[in-house]
Amino acid sequence: MTKQIFEVAYGEIPVAGTDQVFPVRRIYCIGRNYAAHAREMGSDPAREPPFFFQKPGDAVQAVLPGVVAEHPYPPLTKNYHYEVELVAALGKGGRNIPIEKALDCVFGYAVGLDMTRRDLQSEMKDQKKPWEIGKAFENSAPVGPIHPVANTGHFAKGEISLSVNGTAKQKADLSQMMWSVAEQIARLSQLFELKAGDLIMSGTPENVGPVIVGDTMVAKIEGLPELSLKIVKPAA
Ligand code: MN
Repeated sequence: MTKQIFEVAYGEIPVAGTDQVFPVRRIYCIGRNYAAHAREMGSDPAREPPFFFQKPGDAVQAVLPGVVAEHPYPPLTKNYHYEVELVAALGKGGRNIPIEKALDCVFGYAVGLDMTRRDLQSEMKDQKKPWEIGKAFENSAPVGPIHPVANTGHFAKGEISLSVNGTAKQKADLSQMMWSVAEQIARLSQLFELKAGDLIMSGTPENVGPVIVGDTMVAKIEGLPELSLKIVKPAA
């Protein structure tokens, strides 16, 4: 047997109602999956096939319900945005998964945030360079506990919302997704081999916007416990 030369801290998320954790392998994110958000980002939703990007697995910030989690404001941005999203956590994967079988891969669901350094993302988009610095940084994927499908069923509809300091900001219904979770899994599995431990952030509704140090965000999806995060100064 060979040994790892040092220990690596991977992302992990508690499984609700158990003492188990879900180890995170990859985080796939779909872009512009609600028509009104696609429009606010300056594109025409009707003509856009699904597209994806990734965050590293250790970008997860596991957030427990019932407490206000501290979320550090990241470096080198002046326009830090929230995006509330339904997260599907895969218990198995594969390649070329048909849409009818895709939901069999889902172990559970969680509330998540695709936090974005919007100014950096926009600069890179304008220069036709990769977006990574806008999307794929430490703690950029706050995610609540994963609720097994066995307990909750699948989430095809239900309200998804986010407030900042008690003021409603984002509000939509999961049924407004242009590409369903099943369709996202089927498409991703043509591009990549999906595996247990993969998370899929299924896109955000319209009215994304900025937060600053001191703000408190509350993210909700009907049928799951809400998440609260307070933006704090990063550790020096
Ligand atoms: Mn997003």
